[in-house]
Amino acid sequence: MTRLVVSLHDVAPATAETSRRWLELLESRGIRCSLLVVPGPWQGPDFAASGSFLSWLRRSAANGHEVVLHGWAHRREEPVRGLRGRAGSLLGRGCEEFWNISYTTAADKIARGREVLNGEGFDPVGFVAPGWLMSAGTMHALRATTLRYTLTHTRMIDLASGHAIRAVTTSQRPNDRLGRVVATGTIGLASAILTGSRPLRIAVHPDDLGETRLRNANMRLIDIALGHGYSAMPYRDFHHLQFGEKVAS
Ligand SMILES: [Zn+2]
Repeated sequence: MTRLVVSLHDVAPATAETSRRWLELLESRGIRCSLLVVPGPWQGPDFAASGSFLSWLRRSAANGHEVVLHGWAHRREEPVRGLRGRAGSLLGRGCEEFWNISYTTAADKIARGREVLNGEGFDPVGFVAPGWLMSAGTMHALRATTLRYTLTHTRMIDLASGHAIRAVTTSQRPNDRLGRVVATGTIGLASAILTGSRPLRIAVHPDDLGETRLRNANMRLIDIALGHGYSAMPYRDFHHLQFGEKVAS
């Protein structure tokens, strides 16, 4: 069984409407997604005070979608420092919240995010840093928690063992190779890439919904993957299948 994970990024009160519409579209393909939730202050209303958003999120979790912790405020809160900081700012364009921070700062942000989510009845087992950009301190902080997994662009990392497996992300952004292939309609080539029997991660963002080309490219890629026998599941299930038996409790 070849595994496919579709993640919906930046789920928050500020993106409530687009997140809801994206999920509806993905549900029309029978997909259970990982919802990457931003619990801190980001672009809009307070998380805990957003009643209708929270009801939707609870309903979605009850329907088998997964709530994943996606940072705290989804933006860099410290000044850009050094070469690493500049590189991060180039890659993350301001969302690189966990790229250049210490163990203590990362631990604090992770704890605050979990507290808000726990307070609303969600108990995430996974963490995805905005832009998948993480410092060594963030990795250490994550490994000191009871969270089970995190991800980079190319890997899933089991936090208990530190072991990683390769699972590449395609995010239908302008620089993405597979995205470009699908977007330009070269479906044969996309199919060839997908017959490699490798796990595939497809990341979609609220902003992509309004961009017809990006939205269609994402949906096309999902349909092609499903047509190739890929089985869609949230990261939580993917992690369990990959690491469940090997991890001591
Ligand atoms: Zn994000």
